[in-house]
Order: sequence, then structure tokens, then C-alpha cells
Amino acid sequence: MPVVLTVSALRSRTESQEVAHLQAELTAMRAELEALCAEIRISGLGDAATSQAVAAQVAKLGGCPPEGVKVGVINRPPGRQGTVWVKCPVLAAKKIVDAGRFTVGWSTVRATLLEARPQRCYRCLVPGHLGVQCDCGVDRSALCFRCGQPGHKAASCEEEPSCAICASEGVEAGHRLGHKKCPAMNRPPTKGGKKKTGGGNQGPPASSSTAAAAADVEAMDTAH
Ligand SMILES: [Zn+2]
Ligand SMILES: [Zn+2]
Ligand SMILES: [Zn+2]
Repeated sequence: MPVVLTVSALRSRTESQEVAHLQAELTAMRAELEALCAEIRISGLGDAATSQAVAAQVAKLGGCPPEGVKVGVINRPPGRQGTVWVKCPVLAAKKIVDAGRFTVGWSTVRATLLEARPQRCYRCLVPGHLGVQCDCGVDRSALCFRCGQPGHKAASCEEEPSCAICASEGVEAGHRLGHKKCPAMNRPPTKGGKKKTGGGNQGPPASSSTAAAAADVEAMDTAH
């Protein structure tokens, strides 16, 4: 508790102390907020744009120190403009996204805020649990997030996307691991119950829906 001085001669001094105290608190809160980071994607980068130029511009527009800005490798699909992943303090990210379009070198670029990624197991890469709790028995920590093969990182990968989790489950895997449309990323964290195996289409087209219904009922009846 701060000492409260009631002597009038000291009043102005206490007031200024109080102001200083508030200012210190505000500075601390600000520092805390500045330490929080957000991820954004910058798109529309021309051929001449570099990661360094992006970092400098983000720091300038966001009003944060350049050391606080992390910029990934610029992804340049052939014949298209480049995009890059950027991590920077939340306050800077907000300023940049609010700014709409801005320039990096000769390019007019656009920033979009990326949703916070769900916490994901570093071993099996499935969200919903941590590595220490992992009992999947699968170690995917060395695999490329893009093509699912070991030996390189997604940043340098030029293969077609193939999700290691979906591939192992035999479902449609033509996306990178952790992509929004990956069903494994949107599942509640349950332990692999029985799932429908695909490919039931080549059987005879008998009207077996009643059989399926019967099987369901049977499954229910056998309980207890
Ligand atoms: Zn796991
Ligand atoms: Zn790869
Ligand atoms: Zn997937």
C-alpha cells in the first residue's frame, strides 16, 4: 500500500507521486500488451520485395521495434504475387491490419490477421493434447507440414500438399497439415473410436438401408 500523506505542504508532492505511480503501472501494462504477439499474413508482394523490407515496414507502421517483428520466407507461387507470414506484437498487428493497404517497396500489399492456432501436440501434430500426454504412438515431429515427408521443412517444400494425419487415416489428404479444412484439426479430442471406412460404394446397390438400420438397432440392443 502506498503511504498516504495528509500534510498539506506535501500534497502537491504526493499528487505527483501518485501520477508517477499510475504512469509506472500504465507503462507496465503497456509492456505486457506489447509482449503479446499476433500472426498476420501479408499478400500482394512483388518480385522485388524482401522479408527484410516487410519487417522494416511492419515495424514502422506498427510502431514497434524491428527486433519484435518476425517474418517468414516469402512464398511466391509461379506467376502470382508473394505472400508472407509475419509475427509481431498485437498492437502493431492491429495498426497494420487497420491500415488496410500499404506499400512494401513497389508493391501495394494487404495484411490479414491470422486466427490464433489451436494448441497442438508436437509429436503426433493432432490438436487437443500436449506432447507429454500423447499416447498415439505416432511421431510426426520430423515430417514436413506441407507434403508429409521427412527430411525437409514446409518452407522449402515444392511437393503437392498431403496431410500426414489424414493420409494415415485413409481419408482425403490433399491439403497441408493443419489446414482449415483438415478434419483432424476440427475434431473434438477423442480417442479413435470406430469410424466409417470409406469406399463402400463399389458393392452391389442392393437396398441395404434396412440392413444398415437393423445393424444400428442391433448395436443399440446389445448394450446391457
Ligand atoms: Zn499426440
Ligand atoms: Zn514437403
Ligand atoms: Zn488433414
